Amino acid sequence: MPQPILLSPPHIGPEETELVVQAMQSNWIAPVGPFVDRFEAEFGRVVGVPHAVAVCSGTAALQLALHVLGIGQGDEVAVSTLTFVGSVSPIVHRGAVPVFIDSDSTWNMDPDLLEEALRRHPRIKAVVVVHLYGQSADLDAIRAVCEPRGIPIIEDAAEAAGATYKGRHVGADGAIGYFSFNGNKIITTSNGGMIVTGSADIANHVRKLATHAREPASYYEHIELGYNFRLSNLLAALGLAQLRRLPQRIEQRRRNFAYYNEHLSNLSGVRFMPESPLGTCTRWLTTLTIDPHVAGVDREVVRQALTAAGIEARPVWKPMHLQPALRHFPTVLSGTSDRLFAHGLCLPSGSALTTDDLDRVVTAVQHVWAASVVKK
Ligand SMILES: *Cc1c(COP(=O)(O)O)cnc(C)c1O
Repeated sequence: MPQPILLSPPHIGPEETELVVQAMQSNWIAPVGPFVDRFEAEFGRVVGVPHAVAVCSGTAALQLALHVLGIGQGDEVAVSTLTFVGSVSPIVHRGAVPVFIDSDSTWNMDPDLLEEALRRHPRIKAVVVVHLYGQSADLDAIRAVCEPRGIPIIEDAAEAAGATYKGRHVGADGAIGYFSFNGNKIITTSNGGMIVTGSADIANHVRKLATHAREPASYYEHIELGYNFRLSNLLAALGLAQLRRLPQRIEQRRRNFAYYNEHLSNLSGVRFMPESPLGTCTRWLTTLTIDPHVAGVDREVVRQALTAAGIEARPVWKPMHLQPALRHFPTVLSGTSDRLFAHGLCLPSGSALTTDDLDRVVTAVQHVWAASVVKK
């Protein structure tokens, strides 16, 4: 059996080791320190926002974002249904009610369905819009729906570091944006996240909440309760080295997509996630759908053939409105995310994939179609 090909493994070089060792040798083994400051400053510059706060995960970032915006018991929060559960569990943990919004043809939140949700649910106090698989949602259309009602937007850019919308970096437009540096994301700190905002007040409050809401006193004084959510200085060193590689990582992931697109788009029934003309998609993951009626094979047959060849591929996210833990919450649906889950597949997309690796994936997929023609 040849080496397995993973979906999206971390991609680490000597610079990462060097900076982490520097952090160790400086003895800053704490959830604050000079590497946290540098990582925040450089990340803020890349995104084009004045304030960035490093935290221990993307999910922690959303928990803090909802908290500082005052979202709590009985409030409703509109959120993309086609996403990872980390976009939703903090809403429920705050005692709020998620309202799941379906996707449009770009796979991201449908602004028209969001508008319908805001009409039907006057208790919606915030919108969490996900930038899926490295592609920006249509932020102007979503803002046009939210702004007149004074509803703040939280951008879940966990999968979209480096993606742009009309020339601006995603995460910079909402009241609050956040990123994930989980091991499978385009840049990683093993576990980690970043909150970005244009508001100094929000940034200061987030920083305080993330460090147990400690008041500025020599003893431990707590007027409100917070969390232990800061990023360790060691991991910030890793993040700093990774961040400097971001443009290269985007190029490498887009190259994966171009290769798959060139060799697989002619297969009957295959359609890649469309790219919005409004921005740059990083192609964090290359994703496609397989229409079984046209293709004569379905997603599961293809996925299992890849597994048998030692290649990790996964179905597109299972929508939140279909999750046993969440399906009692309100929805505004069109059927799009159901279809994307039924037919969607994520191909190996790591930035260290070689042309040989990509060729192995392409050949394994092409074999499924060739075999199905023989059977017919
Ligand atoms: C990864 C991810 C998160 C959560 O980030 P963690 O750092 O893993 O907590 C949230 N939303 C989306 C869309 C993600 O892909």
